[in-house]
Amino acid sequence: MLSFMFFFMLMRYSDVSDCIFCAMQRGEIPFAEVVSNEFLFAFMDIGPLNHGHVLIVPKEHYANIFEVPPSLGAEVINAMQGIGKAVMEATGAGGLNVVQNNFAPSGQAVFHIHWHLIPRFEGDGLLKWTPGKYENNNQMTSLAEKIRKALA
Ligand code: AMP
Ligand code: ZN
Repeated sequence: MLSFMFFFMLMRYSDVSDCIFCAMQRGEIPFAEVVSNEFLFAFMDIGPLNHGHVLIVPKEHYANIFEVPPSLGAEVINAMQGIGKAVMEATGAGGLNVVQNNFAPSGQAVFHIHWHLIPRFEGDGLLKWTPGKYENNNQMTSLAEKIRKALA
């Protein structure tokens, strides 16, 4: 029943003009709040990768990392440190992933920026990192050059 409600709400609020996280702030959708301040609110992710998975969300609507004013950065880091430590303590986790998705190909499903704090336990098998490789060093350095040019 809970998962049906979750998918219904996600479908209903997935477009930019009707954002689920903004609707939560307006009190239209219940959620399990952890903490909130002038800039951010944090709550339990309803589909946790591990129990204790928390989302940190700016109160202002920004779709992704490219829209967030850099001045909010210090608030976000401060929240990650405080809430991240509390998540680890409360769950007994030995590690913590901070994840933030941008655009659909990255896995972003809610287009109001948020940071995932995911408690990690030895051997839990989540988020396995499988390294790829370049054909040769030149392929890597020419891509670095291309990125440098894009920065200019
Ligand atoms: P992302 O794929 O990075 O956009 O992550 C969106 C996250 O929002 C997912 O982990 C969902 O489980 C979570 N989520 C969506 N709707 C709710 C809700 N109503 N309450 C709590 N978490 C939610
Ligand atoms: Zn929003």
